[in-house]
Amino acid sequence: MSTPIILHTKQELQKYTQKCRDEGQKIAFVPTMGFLHDGHMSLVRSGHESADVVIVSIFVNPTQFGPNEDLDAYPSDMESDIKICAENNVAVIYNPSPKEMYPTGNNTTVNVAGVSDGLCGAARPGHFEGVATVVTKLLMQVRPDAALFGLKDYQQFKVLDRMNKELDLGFNIIGVPIARETDTGLALSSRNTYLTEEDRKTAVQFNKILKSAASDLKTKDAATVKQDGINALKNAGFVTVDYFEICDTETLKYLEDTAGKSAVQILAAAKVGRARLIDNIRADLA
Ligand code: AMP
Repeated sequence: MSTPIILHTKQELQKYTQKCRDEGQKIAFVPTMGFLHDGHMSLVRSGHESADVVIVSIFVNPTQFGPNEDLDAYPSDMESDIKICAENNVAVIYNPSPKEMYPTGNNTTVNVAGVSDGLCGAARPGHFEGVATVVTKLLMQVRPDAALFGLKDYQQFKVLDRMNKELDLGFNIIGVPIARETDTGLALSSRNTYLTEEDRKTAVQFNKILKSAASDLKTKDAATVKQDGINALKNAGFVTVDYFEICDTETLKYLEDTAGKSAVQILAAAKVGRARLIDNIRADLA
């Protein structure tokens, strides 16, 4: 266990990463918005498998939040984040200010058409353009040997993986399985902190409903499974269901018919209390 170095500027970061490269050390990079939990640390642990040093960025990126979203209220606890990073041997926390990241504004952006359009992209216009742009900037600033992203944000992973390929960025982008509460199956999320005791009873049904949907797809058609999923989320107490879709695992196109598919991805977003939760599951059909 060692306390991470905290860097706030690109210049400090580049000095550090250059030293690593000079010494032949491999760098793994985990971009986050902070309020760290064990889901983030599963990415850090994967990073340690292939690299000598792990860098975690903590940056609540304003350009990926819509005007009525929780940017100002997004939870933060730097003291706890430093402690968790220390326990997981994170070498550096990169914590730039918005001014450091966007000194001349947000004029040049990255849009990954197609895979960004549905699901969270439809519910949160501009969100993935903000994510793709900030991740491109962070990747170019850190220039890691591996960058790790959670499959909890499955669409985000597909957007970034496609961006990396289609723009020939050449980074090693790794998707890490979803970390869940062992007893309830609830996907770990910084936004779980918004849940009241009552909301939690609803939230823990989310993964169970997705699991049932994945199993039902073996015997029922996609339209029925989708409608049953939406009804089940509402009956469990979710106030709004942003989407519940059965999708192609790569393009994320919505499927009305799963014939000929060996696997599909079921993705959903729903609100309970103040929290908007997302989760997803792979359904193997073969
Ligand atoms: P965030 O701080 O929410 O932007 O998340 C930063 C990174 O951690 C993203 O790549 C997320 O997909 C990943 N992440 C967050 N929660 C989990 C989880 N429960 N399991 C796996 N990865 C996660």
